[in-house]
Amino acid sequence: MKSDRSNRVKKRTSNRELAVVTYSFLILYAALALYFCYFIAIKSEDFINHAANPRLSVMSEHTIRGDILSSDGKVLATSKLTGSGDEVRSYPQGRKYAHAVGFSVNGMSGAESDANFYLLRSHAFFVERIQNDIVEKKNQGDSVYLTIDSGLQDVAYDGLGNYRGAVFAMDPDTGRILAMVSKPDFDPSKISENWESLTSDSETAALLNRCTQGLYPPGSTFKIITALSYLRDHKSENTDFNCEGSFASGGYTIHCYGNSVHGKLDFPMAFAKSCNTTFAKAGLALGKGDLKDGAEDLFFNKSLPSDLAHVKKSSFSMADNADDALVMQTAIGQGDTLVTPYHMALIASAICNNGQLMTPYYLDHVVNNNDTLVRSFSPHSAGKMAISSKEAKKLRKYMRKVITDGTGSIMNVSSYRAYGKTGTAEYNSDKNDTHSWFVGFAKKGDKKIAIAVIMEGAGAGSSYALPLAKKVFDKYYSK
Ligand SMILES: [Zn+2]
Repeated sequence: MKSDRSNRVKKRTSNRELAVVTYSFLILYAALALYFCYFIAIKSEDFINHAANPRLSVMSEHTIRGDILSSDGKVLATSKLTGSGDEVRSYPQGRKYAHAVGFSVNGMSGAESDANFYLLRSHAFFVERIQNDIVEKKNQGDSVYLTIDSGLQDVAYDGLGNYRGAVFAMDPDTGRILAMVSKPDFDPSKISENWESLTSDSETAALLNRCTQGLYPPGSTFKIITALSYLRDHKSENTDFNCEGSFASGGYTIHCYGNSVHGKLDFPMAFAKSCNTTFAKAGLALGKGDLKDGAEDLFFNKSLPSDLAHVKKSSFSMADNADDALVMQTAIGQGDTLVTPYHMALIASAICNNGQLMTPYYLDHVVNNNDTLVRSFSPHSAGKMAISSKEAKKLRKYMRKVITDGTGSIMNVSSYRAYGKTGTAEYNSDKNDTHSWFVGFAKKGDKKIAIAVIMEGAGAGSSYALPLAKKVFDKYYSK
């Protein structure tokens, strides 16, 4: 009896083990099948889109490369067949979209690279494709619309004029890139013939997209980060500072811009007026690691979220034993800090959205040769920058004060509500050369835009970058 029961127990146990093994295999199999479907439907495009994939060159033999268009339908890149059957790529907008659209030869860049797979695929009507295949004619590739608005791109491009620099504008709610201009630029239709000079001239660096790869001293736009760190340490904003135009500590003297003497002012007004002596004092009042924590909470020294390739990290460093001179310089955005315009626009977006960040993207949707939608790309969240809603609200108040009572007063208009920070960044102290910066955002109802503008060697932020940003905002809210 006892042995029978023990046999039954053993049998039940082995049945259970068998069931566990069987179900485990079934679950694994189902998971594998699901992943396979996911791979075919979604991930396979990433693999095929890889520039090194030989399948792309096969696709290009059977397809006329599709067009690239702005969000409002302006043709930015198109291909035509010559009489001898060669395909010629042209860029009807010339240099205006050089970095955004990029080029399709010599390694590819910009949208030409990121949308390569979609441009080489044809969703033309299948009868048309069969007919083309029979007579060995190429099919028309699909067209890709960008999120970039041609009106804003025009204003940004013309506004930069002959200055080197960058304008980067995005919608903080979605991450849609609205304008992306970098100068010096290049003629995308002459890449091959100019390749040697374009790649050897490192001083001009025309191929560099200064929005995402240009590393600049932030100047007074960094006071946004210093203000955040200071607010975390000092709950009261009402402490009065006294600006006498200069402030010395540890044998080093900081001056206010243009030898201004701001007199008695509280912290928000010091931000609005961009008072260097107050911010130098605020920097010294912070604990040694606080400024670094604030900077890293806003993604300095970190990879930035992006659907664009080759976005550079911004860098912030300050040793624990840094002397007063370096602490004061760093607090007003000089020191060793380097930042991209792209990053500053992300910071403005996050402040606008209580810390929430959307991944910037510029491929909007794909259509076939009959304008039928093939695929669209959706906004996606990049999580949060480490600032609280309360802190973001305070920074918004400060950035608003810049416009109502400070260096940004020309942007105090009734057609939208603007927020921002001007910057004048020294980069060659011997010659007093300065880059002109503006970083900020604007709102009207639910319609928002964030921007970063830098004009190399132009001068004061309020005189150059700010008026250019205003032109972009004016255009955005003119519709
Ligand atoms: Zn001052």
